[in-house]
Amino acid sequence: MGRIEVLSDQVANQIAAGEVIERPASVVKELVENCIDAGATQIEVEFKSGGKNYLRIEDNGCGMSREDALLSLQRHATSKIRSADDLDHVLTMGFRGEALPSIASVSKFLLQTKEKGSESGTEILIDGGERSHVRDCGMPTGTRITISNLFNTVPARRKFLKTVATEGAHIVQHTRLYALAHPEVAFTLIDDGRIVFKTPACNKLKDRIGEIFGKQASKNLLDLEGKEGDLSISGLIGKPGYSKSSRHEMFMFVNNRPVDSKTLAYALIESYHGHIPKGRYPFAFVFLNIPPAKLDVNVHPAKREIRFRNETQVRGLAVKAILDTLRKSLADQQKRISIDVASVPGEKPTPSKIKNLEPVASVVSVKKKEGTTEEAVESKTIARKRIAVVPAAVATIPGKKLSSKPSKSLPEVSSDKAKLETDRKSGEPEKSKTEFQAVNWRHIGWAHSEYALFETKAGLVVLSVNAAQRRVMYEKLCKQFSDKSPETQKLLLPVSMEFDPISSSILGDNLQFLKDHGFDVEPFGRNFYRVESSPVWLPENDLEDFVRELVGLMRQGKLSSSKLEMADRVIAEHAVLRSVQMESNLPSIALTRLLEDLFACSNPLADIDGCPTFFELSKGEIKKRFHKSKGGNTQSFF
Ligand code: ADP
Ligand code: MG
Repeated sequence: MGRIEVLSDQVANQIAAGEVIERPASVVKELVENCIDAGATQIEVEFKSGGKNYLRIEDNGCGMSREDALLSLQRHATSKIRSADDLDHVLTMGFRGEALPSIASVSKFLLQTKEKGSESGTEILIDGGERSHVRDCGMPTGTRITISNLFNTVPARRKFLKTVATEGAHIVQHTRLYALAHPEVAFTLIDDGRIVFKTPACNKLKDRIGEIFGKQASKNLLDLEGKEGDLSISGLIGKPGYSKSSRHEMFMFVNNRPVDSKTLAYALIESYHGHIPKGRYPFAFVFLNIPPAKLDVNVHPAKREIRFRNETQVRGLAVKAILDTLRKSLADQQKRISIDVASVPGEKPTPSKIKNLEPVASVVSVKKKEGTTEEAVESKTIARKRIAVVPAAVATIPGKKLSSKPSKSLPEVSSDKAKLETDRKSGEPEKSKTEFQAVNWRHIGWAHSEYALFETKAGLVVLSVNAAQRRVMYEKLCKQFSDKSPETQKLLLPVSMEFDPISSSILGDNLQFLKDHGFDVEPFGRNFYRVESSPVWLPENDLEDFVRELVGLMRQGKLSSSKLEMADRVIAEHAVLRSVQMESNLPSIALTRLLEDLFACSNPLADIDGCPTFFELSKGEIKKRFHKSKGGNTQSFF
């Protein structure tokens, strides 16, 4: 080791910048926070080329005198705290006095500012960490900071920046967060000369959400409110059943500061359990107010992550408030239903009637599958009526050998489950190593409409039609994806969709990937896309939902064109779960076809989750159940 030396300010600032300033959006975050701390009622953020080459943040706040302006660029210069004890009472956004000197050390930095009552403003230019000039300038009260060539002094850092679209999207996301946290402040955001959003000062959070996310989204929100001791919670959360595909739509704020809080996120996810489908996330804007002393804000200089000194208390309050809101909404809904029933002329609302309204959904969810012919529908009806009389169709499956050693009997399926699952998880192509030779299966009927029963040479087979269909479709889609030949249909009316900026940029980067999977998506104005054609298997009214689901998966890193084989499987799995509907009493032609397709699969034995598609009861097993052991001695009842 060499001699110890104190680092120059310039180097110390650059190191601090490395911690605080990751990307253009971090600059926006720090500077917008300063505007808010300065009491601004109007904030304007402008950027070009994703903020890499140009950023301007301007406010009408208190401004600075020349003396303060010069001081503000020194390390650990802050007007916000005076001693370490003050940390327990911090209410302002910043307090470290690090942002301005750090940013100035890694860019060309122009600060212009004017205090109320002073005649002229001050302008300070810093380039590459060196002060170029300090002079008077004319400007209204407030502060304007213009940054060009971010990271010009640290080229290694500049190389790590993502595309212009992605960096821009992060800026938009951050600005949105602060706009949500402060509806009372008017915000304008400009990207390459175009206004991304311009929202006036709003009285209510709901109005601000409407301005940013659209009026429709704001209509699906419920008021959240709760209090316990010196903690209080408020905000807006999605109605029961209203959900999002990604966790990025849970917005959390503590003392009006946008934060990431595991405690609040879990409280939300847990409380919505049973109120939204599995795998989906709540849409929520949660504001917690807590005395600063109960908060540990000093976790990391740049990260938004926050910790509470008493996690249990916060969690308890959040869960209770969220559950109260959801329950109240459900109770209101129930009341509306009973009022509807009561208003039917001549009908008196009875408890049983009200109860009967609920199961409707489960009946409706058994959809008629597209392409079902008249004949098929009719045969289903007949089959239902005459339960006892089932024609014995003979389904002959063409012989298929999956291994060199033929075997007469069908494999024991359930014992393979664990192995199949291991195969799936290890990412190996699913291939059954079990020996299998097709035999003639004689269709003898149905059980519970969804299980086809077959008599076989060796015994009795029970096939889950649904599981078989899922397996067939899964393998078919995987093949289409790997051949890059998805079956698609052109939409008569293209479906247009709007995305938030980050999702939009991710989608924009993955258009070819989507095309290879059957979705022809075209950019259509800022953050808008138009789906021109879609896969044949996807019902048109599910299209928007499914595309959003895919974008959500991409955002979570679960789908990526760099891991194509895995992505193919993930998409196929989601497609199958969404589109294969429960079938009952399939007509015999369709059943024969299904068996042919199933045994053409590389793994006919298991559903996509590793559960069996069918199982066989051997003759021996059946006999055993009737207490007929090998000898065939029948137990006499007489
Ligand atoms: P911190 O916000 O942690 O105090 P910064 O480096 O961000 O540190 O800012 C240093 C100081 O410069 C602030 O404490 C504040 O007094 C002043 N300042 C920064 N930005 C503004 C602004 N937009 N308007 C008025 N004063 C500002
Ligand atoms: Mg600051």
